[in-house]
Amino acid sequence: MPSYSGNIFMIVAPSGAGKSSLVNALLSEDPSLILSISCTTRAPRPSEQANKHYRFVSTEEFLAMRDNQALLEWAEVHGNFYGTPRDRIHTALERGEDVLLEIDWQGARQVREHYPQAIGIFILPPSIEALESRLTTRGQDAPHVISRRLLAAGSEMSHASECQYVIINQEFSTALLQLGQIVAATRLRFGTQAARNAELFSQLGISKTLA
Ligand code: 5GP
Repeated sequence: MPSYSGNIFMIVAPSGAGKSSLVNALLSEDPSLILSISCTTRAPRPSEQANKHYRFVSTEEFLAMRDNQALLEWAEVHGNFYGTPRDRIHTALERGEDVLLEIDWQGARQVREHYPQAIGIFILPPSIEALESRLTTRGQDAPHVISRRLLAAGSEMSHASECQYVIINQEFSTALLQLGQIVAATRLRFGTQAARNAELFSQLGISKTLA
């Protein structure tokens, strides 16, 4: 049983499944969720801001962080490095805050090794055509980048079974509602309730350990 009451939500999806829009909408509905800002060696897209969407770093900086154990997990995705800074996650969880990670399946596997109770949520597109069209109309990536991401989408989706939850993002508002429901249900799990309401549980004579 972990000694902290924060939960980890890992949102996994192929590029173009609408993951970032869902995450942004969830964060504005629930500001208590802490979004982990990943480090990446990828160049910023026109709409992206440093330290808001990503911490953009050089390959040298990234490898130094990795070698100094500063990353909770890391992976090479579409030819670039991505990684989750360890410190912020650890501190947030110790404070009892819930953390959201937008990572790929390789990262999700590594996080589970450290935090087996982490919740995996896989976002699927409603069809392969919808995925293609979302990648193409986003207009922020070069054509060769889009082709590479389409190829990678199939391999990413073959790992959907590693997540406990699956959301099919057909209707944005439904998918957002479902994402919020997963977060809400997780917060009602015995372990989280016992840790967050320790005094009440003691007063009522309830064991804080799940039977
Ligand atoms: P994008 O370049 O489209 O922002 O992200 C490409 C892929 O990298 C997505 O699948 C995204 O989830 C993944 N990704 C972003 N940040 C991280 C991270 O910190 N760790 C890992 N393992 N994957 C990440």
